[in-house]
Amino acid sequence: MAEQKIMLYNSLTRIKDQFVPIDQQNVRMYVCGPTVYDLAHIGNARPVVVFDVLYRVLRHIFGIRSVTYVRNITDVDDKINQRALEDYPNVPLNEAINLITTKTEAQFHQDISALEVLDPTFEPRATGHIPEMRDFINNLISRGNAYVAEDHVLFDVSSMSDYGSLSYRTLNDMEAGVRIEVAPYKKKPMDFVLWKPSKKDEPSWVSPGNIKAKGRPGWHIECSAMSERYLGKVFDIHGGGIDLIFPHHENEIAQSRCAHGTELMAQVWMHNGFLKVEGEKMSKSLGNVIAIRDLLETKKFGNRIWSGPAIRIAMLTTHYRQPINWTVAALIEAEKTYTRWVNIHTTHNIDAAPHLTDTILSHLCNDLNTPGAIAELHSLANSAEKGSKTAAEELSVNARFLGISFEDHHKVQSDLPISASRIDQLIAARSAARQEKNWADADRIRNELNGMGIRLMDRKHPETGKIITTWQIK
Ligand code: AMP
Ligand code: ZN
Repeated sequence: MAEQKIMLYNSLTRIKDQFVPIDQQNVRMYVCGPTVYDLAHIGNARPVVVFDVLYRVLRHIFGIRSVTYVRNITDVDDKINQRALEDYPNVPLNEAINLITTKTEAQFHQDISALEVLDPTFEPRATGHIPEMRDFINNLISRGNAYVAEDHVLFDVSSMSDYGSLSYRTLNDMEAGVRIEVAPYKKKPMDFVLWKPSKKDEPSWVSPGNIKAKGRPGWHIECSAMSERYLGKVFDIHGGGIDLIFPHHENEIAQSRCAHGTELMAQVWMHNGFLKVEGEKMSKSLGNVIAIRDLLETKKFGNRIWSGPAIRIAMLTTHYRQPINWTVAALIEAEKTYTRWVNIHTTHNIDAAPHLTDTILSHLCNDLNTPGAIAELHSLANSAEKGSKTAAEELSVNARFLGISFEDHHKVQSDLPISASRIDQLIAARSAARQEKNWADADRIRNELNGMGIRLMDRKHPETGKIITTWQIK
């Protein structure tokens, strides 16, 4: 057993308890990833950063090769279809969807790389796992947990005696709260969709349950099928934002436990609190949705651009379970902190790397107490400013462990003659040209970017076979 105990708050038991992995050689974590139809906003960045810190801690305690981290990409969704129709009205729907999801996935990776997030071990796309979802649903039907109605497959919540155990609500309470009209094909109002028919031109696959019409999976089944595929029937940690507890995680649990006949889907369920902007809920109607890239590249928030490490510091200064208020004032503070740490690092000319300090590690192992760890970094900075080289070294190594290193990614980007969003637009235009076999245009765009010092890299997605283009500064 690893020496340092890890304590984690479990939403399922509502208790903070010692974390003991099922298999120490393979600690398994699944986190719900983005639905790829629009730029990731700063609220989406929260689970990405929080669970990245947990991933780093687990790797430190159990060994780099002993942790498997899965964060999925949801690329089948009504919102994606809607966006494809709006953005590419003249392109066949399936191609338009492909353009939207490929572009948004690349943007997501670009944006979070500025936040120094480690790559997960696997990043499966839902569309790469439809056969697994179909098998999963057929299994639920044969076990009597799901039924077919009007070309839909529904999960029968009354077939599970303790449905609601994550959100601590009983079926009766939930039913009493149903206000909207219940779809006619449902036996019970809380029954949820596992599979539904596709509308004309929408992406569709052979259906489970001997349904003749082609269709597509519901959202919850994606995570049940993909987590089983990569992590097995019962795994260690499942994470996501607090908004996912109900219905998404409750329904993932119902599907997985019923399909596998297990008491648990994951041992520990962890949820980050919500992020608000200057005290308000982010919403399109208020016009206060802030994309990660707005902070990195435009002066939309606080009339200046912000560095990736400062964003990360601001994010980790609040404990992950607390709500976070994203303010210009907090970012100014974080930017000051970062500049101060960079100065210490450069003045002391740090190259040696001592070990992680025990105090910082024990804060992190105490339910990811990142504010405690950051407070320690401040006190190391104080000692370093008084002349302690050891403190300066410790500051560097501990900050780097937290994903805050002292090379400013943002500066690298802003030296370019073109913004990252413009690069993405050009990449999307090139993909569209390639789809139309307009090689001349596609090459022209590649050469244009090349002339600006940007190299494009195409790779085939291992599951879907689609080409994903990313870029790099030469
Ligand atoms: P989505 O792309 O909407 O499925 O969300 C991806 C992840 O971001 C999920 O884990 C959500 O819980 C999380 N998330 C979305 N909005 C916020 C927010 N305002 N604050 C914190 N987490 C959020
Ligand atoms: Zn999920």
